[in-house]
Amino acid sequence: MTELTGMTCAEITEWVKTQGYPAFRGKQIFRWIHQGAEFGEMTNLSKEMRENLEQTAIVQPVHVRLKRESPLDGTVKLLYELRDGNCVEGVLMRYKYGVSLCISTQVGCRMGCRFCASTLEGRVRDLTAGEMLGEILCANRLLEEEDIRVSHVVLMGSGEPLDNYGNVVRFLRLMKEEEGIQLSLRNISLSTCGIVPKMYDLAEEGLPVTLCVSLHAPTDEIRRQTMPIANTWSIAEILEACRNYIRKTGRRVIFEYALSDGLNAEKEHAEQLSRLLRGMQCHVNLIPLNVVRERDMKGIDEKKVQEFLKVLQNNHISATRRREMGDDIEGACGQLRRKVITGE
Ligand code: SAH
Repeated sequence: MTELTGMTCAEITEWVKTQGYPAFRGKQIFRWIHQGAEFGEMTNLSKEMRENLEQTAIVQPVHVRLKRESPLDGTVKLLYELRDGNCVEGVLMRYKYGVSLCISTQVGCRMGCRFCASTLEGRVRDLTAGEMLGEILCANRLLEEEDIRVSHVVLMGSGEPLDNYGNVVRFLRLMKEEEGIQLSLRNISLSTCGIVPKMYDLAEEGLPVTLCVSLHAPTDEIRRQTMPIANTWSIAEILEACRNYIRKTGRRVIFEYALSDGLNAEKEHAEQLSRLLRGMQCHVNLIPLNVVRERDMKGIDEKKVQEFLKVLQNNHISATRRREMGDDIEGACGQLRRKVITGE
């Protein structure tokens, strides 16, 4: 079976020709795919053509298996099922400025960060570009009755996007296709644990996405305690790659910093972090660490979060505490999938 979802309009056009149909059918099918349609719904194709194509190609490779909506803030946690039975998670968040969707880029993850649930069983496989797009298409279909669509996307679900570089870049390029979903790349954030060479590669792609870096520590020593990737690249190397990204794209970089009591949350750590980031075109997102049952890491009191934030702000570092959404429907990120696959 050929997965058409991750193809460009030109590629689908070539493909329909190999199936014995005229080129203009390519654009029609491409448009339908980006509207989330299955072959059966492509009403401008003949029934016979739809049935023929269905035998050889896939258009919607992702389906919603489970959906939980928060009565408090309307956040929706989604468990998507892929064609091989694997599952990945997504979260749909409603803001004043629009609807933001968190998508996954791999089934599982091999980066091994100690605080993260997605990495507990390692990486199972990479998602295709079509599957990443499919996650958005599913969410758009859920929003259809409200007559709204996903306006912002964050690559912060399971997986390390820069460990699946080719598919992620293909996915990002699809956003720019004329007849497609047309999500502005400026509304897309890509979060990485800091795979330095790939950060340089991304800066050269001409794709102005917001780069987010999971820093989580003010020193290499502390970072190495929770993030294995810190044994490969130092904070200094990461910051140099960020400066390059800022120069090349003109976009500020966002640093994510999950606070864990007894590890990285003291005032002195906030001072160290301020010194690291001084003068850089960046923003810090503070996240109280979500405690993952299988991991021995502590969360943090709100009071300490506010104190940490205050130090950064006093040092003129742009920083905010990330709002937590959908807390009432499932614990930490990655927990919904675990619950389903382990049957607990
Ligand atoms: N692999 C990418 C993107 C996926 S994780 C990355 O590392 O950035 C998205 C964000 O959630 C990252 O900043 C990650 O460090 C953070 N995260 C993972 N587990 C967390 C937890 N238990 N509490 C708080 N943040 C967590």
